[in-house]
Amino acid sequence: MRRALALTWTLSTLAALPAAGATFDFDHAPGRLPKNVVPLDYQLSVTPKLETRTIAGTESVRLRVTAATAAIVFNSLNEKLADVRLDGAPVAAVIADDARQITTVTLARPAQPGEHTLSFSYTALLETQPHGMFLQQYVKPDGTRGVLVSTKMESTDARRMFPCWDEPAFRATFELTVTGPSAWATVSNMPVARREEHGGLATTTFQRSPAMPSYLIEFTGGDLAAISAQTEGTALSLWAVRGREREGQMALADAQLILADYNDYFGLPFPLPKLDAIAVPGGFSGAMENWGAITYNDKLLLLNPDSTIADRQAVFSVQAHEIAHQWNGDLVTMAWWDDLWLNESFAAWRAANETDRRNPSWKWWQQQDAAKERAMRSDARLSTHPIQQPVADELQAANAFDEITYEKGQSVLRMLESYLGPELFRDGIRRYLRARAYSNATAGDLWVALAQASGRDDVVQVARDWTEQPGFPLVTVTAGCSGGVRTLTLSQHRFLVQGDDPNAPRWRIPLRVRVGDAVPRTELLVHDGQQSAAGRCDEPLSVNAEAIGFFRVRYDAATFATDVRAFARLPEGDRIALLDDAWALSLAGEQPLGSYLALAAAMGRNHNSRAWDQIAASLGALERDERGSPGHAAFTARARALIKPMADSLGWDPRPGETPDVQRLRRTLRFDLGEWGDPHTLAEARRRFAHFVTDRSAIRPDDQESVLTVVAHAADEATFEQLHAIARGEKDEAAQRRYYLALMQVSDATLAERAAEAALSAEIPPQAADLRLHLVTALAGRHPALAWRVFTANADLLLAPYPKYAPLITSQEIPEVFWEAAEPQQLEAWVRARLPAEMSPNIARGMEAVAVRRAERQGLMPAIDAWVRVR
Ligand SMILES: [Zn+2]
Repeated sequence: MRRALALTWTLSTLAALPAAGATFDFDHAPGRLPKNVVPLDYQLSVTPKLETRTIAGTESVRLRVTAATAAIVFNSLNEKLADVRLDGAPVAAVIADDARQITTVTLARPAQPGEHTLSFSYTALLETQPHGMFLQQYVKPDGTRGVLVSTKMESTDARRMFPCWDEPAFRATFELTVTGPSAWATVSNMPVARREEHGGLATTTFQRSPAMPSYLIEFTGGDLAAISAQTEGTALSLWAVRGREREGQMALADAQLILADYNDYFGLPFPLPKLDAIAVPGGFSGAMENWGAITYNDKLLLLNPDSTIADRQAVFSVQAHEIAHQWNGDLVTMAWWDDLWLNESFAAWRAANETDRRNPSWKWWQQQDAAKERAMRSDARLSTHPIQQPVADELQAANAFDEITYEKGQSVLRMLESYLGPELFRDGIRRYLRARAYSNATAGDLWVALAQASGRDDVVQVARDWTEQPGFPLVTVTAGCSGGVRTLTLSQHRFLVQGDDPNAPRWRIPLRVRVGDAVPRTELLVHDGQQSAAGRCDEPLSVNAEAIGFFRVRYDAATFATDVRAFARLPEGDRIALLDDAWALSLAGEQPLGSYLALAAAMGRNHNSRAWDQIAASLGALERDERGSPGHAAFTARARALIKPMADSLGWDPRPGETPDVQRLRRTLRFDLGEWGDPHTLAEARRRFAHFVTDRSAIRPDDQESVLTVVAHAADEATFEQLHAIARGEKDEAAQRRYYLALMQVSDATLAERAAEAALSAEIPPQAADLRLHLVTALAGRHPALAWRVFTANADLLLAPYPKYAPLITSQEIPEVFWEAAEPQQLEAWVRARLPAEMSPNIARGMEAVAVRRAERQGLMPAIDAWVRVR
């Protein structure tokens, strides 16, 4: 049974809907497995066998049968069960269907309601890609090869390690036992209960876990070492390949801070006795919030003198995300994958708040604006989906992990928090967690808690408008002026970059209206023609102060002109919102490109890094569209002139007391000046690179990306070989990634072929296999046809490190990357041939992105040429 989603009501029909949507009810939670047999406790014992790449296991599951049944049905994949018994008696038949990933046990006689025990032995595969229990090869700090075993279960891969009820509503307790080499350190969700050595092996049993879903099970074993600390009664450890654990000191300090902050924010202390962070050398590219034992790609946890500020920021923000999941996701889990956003949007929003609060100089929410804009770009297309989206069966769950679930979800929660106020919002979340702890939840549970905590019913309707409908609105602001006093008339319609939505959806829009430099006031836009007093007519105006709202705004010409005049003095977030909107409106053909460029030209020497970042990225997009056209040289000259005064005022090297934000701005502008052919920038980058060839400390890690990219872009064969030799010889993986990525920026076609060969070669160490796809897509920036040829010929190799996300990447990201590399029909045919039919909605999203990009280029070219001519 599924709840109705994707509702396209109008405001007048909203009142008739149930107040908050369905709340959690186990019997009616969606899923494929029958609900009449419920696992209560697993006793699981596994022996991973490295030589044969298999797992030998025994399993005993205590079950509650709620209605008499002749069969027991659960998930399995590539497993062989033997000696299957219920309450000690052999069963009649066992059929494993790997296509459906389901095993059906037919009982000798029906099981009556009550508790029973299902037991069996089994074999499974020890995987070599990061799903289920997998073997990970890596190069050790001393250059020798090592191997470890780890796990990655979300969404549906616990069933690869052991037969189980692998749907999130089936919470159970787990007692895990693992037998492996006695030299191994072993980590799981819970602390070690007992350990026995026998011969060269050790058998480790971990304490029984609290009730949790199967996708949160974790085990890592290998030659690992840890550093440890204590926070408010919780033992915190950071595990890494032996010899690298000290590189986790910063991460461990962050984890202490974050855990204490979350204990306070959520109002419930972290519920397990310990929390481990495990740095897995490669294998998978992100991090996974296993309860009590979070696994990270080691680049997201370990820092050394070669690390950049961006690496440092990732260490904090990714931990802040995964630790937030220990409450939102682990303690309280979404009932079904259609509410994945309850996990991911929440963790993303909580992490951004925490990162911003603890590192104010990073201006983290401003940096997150770039992610919000990416989500708005996708969400401005007809093929987008609501934050809450149908997930027909759990095998499709992985396709929900996209920018709508993460970035739009994070932005919408921020908007709701701003609307209710941070205290009431926090109280609602505390109430929600207390009510649903050690269980599951739906969006309805959250809305009920927010409404109860705030005493405001309207929050439910606002929240549902934004989570159950696709897309977002464009707010039109028309100012009327009488005696110098301004009155706004407000209206809305769905913002689409192409086409129209016949359903004409509506939103209750939380505006934050700022006049001049006053503190913003909150106002809910409910009906078209709504009027609002807004100060004097000559004061700047924003109805999306601090760029918190997930909507676009179009101001009437006079108000826009007032904002342009005051642009350099506006609060930073208001300035960013104006730039974002003007750029999006010009791409959609709703406002002339000149309006956007007028804002860009009004920046002056303002140090607002995100604003400049936005301008540089937009000019970069225009530059790309102009490539190969007669107007290219004139355009780049004009673009350089726009950013060069700012770049020159910042110079090349950091100054004492500068924030990371300003340093980032300097790198962005230098990078673009180089890209757009500024001879002084190229000469200085080459001079610095010449030193770097003999002395790796000559360019700070933070500056390497921009300097090396500029050099690589203009590289001749000798320079290419110098950079290639540096990349090949580098031992530090983070530095090596930077060097190879720079190598992909070569302009010369012959050298680009050699860059492609390097990306595919065994020069890339096994733990960096995920880098290959990044390299080939980076190559697409300057050599789309070559990159497409290389990608299609090697897609299996390039996508292998992403077993969970490969369908999503193939359907939605690949068309967008290669939009100009091949004809749309050719792109679509290739994608369709690789994917099952149920991926059609995702393919439609990818292909709409291609169509939009092509149309944008066509629309922009004349506007760019006009801008270049006018001086
Ligand atoms: Zn997450």
